[in-house]
Amino acid sequence: MTTWVFSEETDGAPSAASLEAATAARAWGEVAAFYVGTGNPAAFAALGDHGVTKVYHLDPGDALPSAAAAAAMADLAASDAPSVIMFSMGSTDRDVAGRLSARMGATVLSNAVALEVDGGSVVAYNEILGGSTKVATKAESGPVIVVTRPKAFPAEPAGGAEPAVVAIAMPETGHAGSAQVLSRHVEASEGPDLEEADVIISGGRGLGNADGFAMMDELAKLLGGAVGATRAVVDSGWVPYSYQIGQTGKTVKPSVYVACGISGAMQHLVGMKDATTIIAINKDPEAPIFDVSDLGIVGDVNKVVPALVEALKARS
Ligand SMILES: Cc1cc2nc3c(=O)[nH]c(=O)nc-3n(C[C@H](O)[C@H](O)[C@H](O)COP(=O)(O)OP(=O)(O)OC[C@H]3O[C@@H](n4cnc5c(N)ncnc54)[C@H](O)[C@@H]3O)c2cc1C
Repeated sequence: MTTWVFSEETDGAPSAASLEAATAARAWGEVAAFYVGTGNPAAFAALGDHGVTKVYHLDPGDALPSAAAAAAMADLAASDAPSVIMFSMGSTDRDVAGRLSARMGATVLSNAVALEVDGGSVVAYNEILGGSTKVATKAESGPVIVVTRPKAFPAEPAGGAEPAVVAIAMPETGHAGSAQVLSRHVEASEGPDLEEADVIISGGRGLGNADGFAMMDELAKLLGGAVGATRAVVDSGWVPYSYQIGQTGKTVKPSVYVACGISGAMQHLVGMKDATTIIAINKDPEAPIFDVSDLGIVGDVNKVVPALVEALKARS
């Protein structure tokens, strides 16, 4: 059973999600990657290390890659059909998955948090009702496109050999492929990347206003963590969208997640409930966030967090 993993180059390396997908897929057979980006030996070696034996490499140059990637993948699949094609939740991933599904007439199983193979067919599990219920979906005929949630699987190197690399020519896609990338904007941020951080200090509407994030920053700095937020505060313009955790934001899996003034709406929980230890600070003892917390402090976040900051400063 062959699986293709879509991998968009990120800072010269395969996307973290593609290494997670390759780790999961190597359990049931051969894994090839469809890699979109400039490409380099270290990036291909990283894929090989995670179980990929063949890399189809498409360099889109300055073109917006989705139309070309979907056309090239559909062409390849016509002669070399995989059983499963895996994507993650990044915007290019989802764009290519949708276009590819239309081109191939292939079923898409989205939002998968776990996968298994049953009699040669892939079964995808996705969570509903805030993660309280898992739904299993099986596509009876393939190829099937599976879109997985980030962090659903750990990325684990397996010491695999360098993969074979096959260069794929840019296909002709007419108007669909005519969009060009004119500039790129990297949002400046301090400290660890939110999706990779081991400690996350996250703020919600209970902080009262945007100024409350100054103490989130201070606590995060003392603990070597990153700062996250709920959609309510992102929508209020207190912090940029890149901070948002949840259904329509980032999925995180830190060792410690400190939820400050966050109610615990299910759309937030789906993005952080797999943290190893969840600590909630909320003045309402009935707040749903306490249902998923390992430790809870019932109190005013504007008093508890400064006290924590002082205590940590006193220790260092
Ligand atoms: C389609 C859809 C997608 C969504 N996607 C997301 C998403 O990706 N991420 C996300 O976060 N949300 C998402 N939401 C919004 C979500 O439903 C909630 O509205 C949001 O998470 C609430 O944010 P909050 O906890 O900051 O605010 P609130 O729900 O208003 O909670 C504030 C909490 O702060 C507490 N509080 C108030 N003052 C204090 C104080 N001084 N000290 C301590 N505690 C205090 C209150 O008791 C309350 O529990 C989505 C909604 C929809 C419909």
